[in-house]
Amino acid sequence: MKTMKLKAPAKVNYRLDVLRRRPDGYHDLRMIMQRIDLCDDIEIALSDTPGVRVTCGREGVPDGPGNIAWRAADALLRLSGTQVGIDIAITKNIPVAAGLGGGSSDAATVLMGVNEMLGLGLSTERLMEIGVTLGADVPFFIFGKTALAEGIGEVLTALEEVPPAWLVIVNPNIHVSTAWVYQNLQLTGERNRVNIPRFFKDVSAVCTVLANDLEPVTVGKFSVVGEIKERLIERGAAGALMSGSGPTVFGLFEAEEGARRAAHDITEAGNWFVAVVKTL
Ligand code: ATP
Repeated sequence: MKTMKLKAPAKVNYRLDVLRRRPDGYHDLRMIMQRIDLCDDIEIALSDTPGVRVTCGREGVPDGPGNIAWRAADALLRLSGTQVGIDIAITKNIPVAAGLGGGSSDAATVLMGVNEMLGLGLSTERLMEIGVTLGADVPFFIFGKTALAEGIGEVLTALEEVPPAWLVIVNPNIHVSTAWVYQNLQLTGERNRVNIPRFFKDVSAVCTVLANDLEPVTVGKFSVVGEIKERLIERGAAGALMSGSGPTVFGLFEAEEGARRAAHDITEAGNWFVAVVKTL
């Protein structure tokens, strides 16, 4: 039986501007997206029993067709017209419904893995087109570089000069629904005024762009998100921000040692998920 073991990395948003609500209900966004080395483990196996099977075993994440990784494999299986079976085992290390893009990354990884295993020869662009039908963040994970993401997140431009950084990731163990956050977002007329630089000489330069239009919505309901930000800054982070629709907050550090020290202090303080990670 042919098998493949893959890593599906999480992302953080260094920037998330909501520009406008679109007639189709989505929002036009402008984001800076950065992958980090906090990864789910994905094992894909081909079998003689036709169909797709996904097992995950994490509370809050469905096995089977409800899983976005299932839909990714199913899309490629239909396109291939072959009768093989695909078994996918996901070990979730990325917190769920956390603003870290875990589900989207799982789907992107399955698209790339199944494309290779079935020898479909689909281009990166084609995989990204299929990916956006599954979720707006899926194309970014196929793109595989730090990016400026526009449109609903699928119009990607590589940002070549973003320095590596150490991050402390803190999730207060609450799930936040992305749909709820967008429903509660008040869009004002003051949009898209500021230009975002394309080059950042160091971590301090990255900190000058840190902003997330969704943050006040999530903080309004879960004040702990604001408290985590303050705590990261007190513990030496050069900057701190909520990622995506939250509730995960990340703090940025130039060096590993500072990040580890801050993570240690924060771990002592609460029953939260805390991890030290590097940018990819
Ligand atoms: P984003 O930042 O893109 O909004 P997120 O990190 O906030 O993503 P996910 O962890 O991707 O959110 O999960 C959102 C929802 O998707 C969960 O409620 C979960 O039940 C469902 N889901 C389906 N498949 C997966 C998967 N493979 N991993 C995680 N969640 C999944």
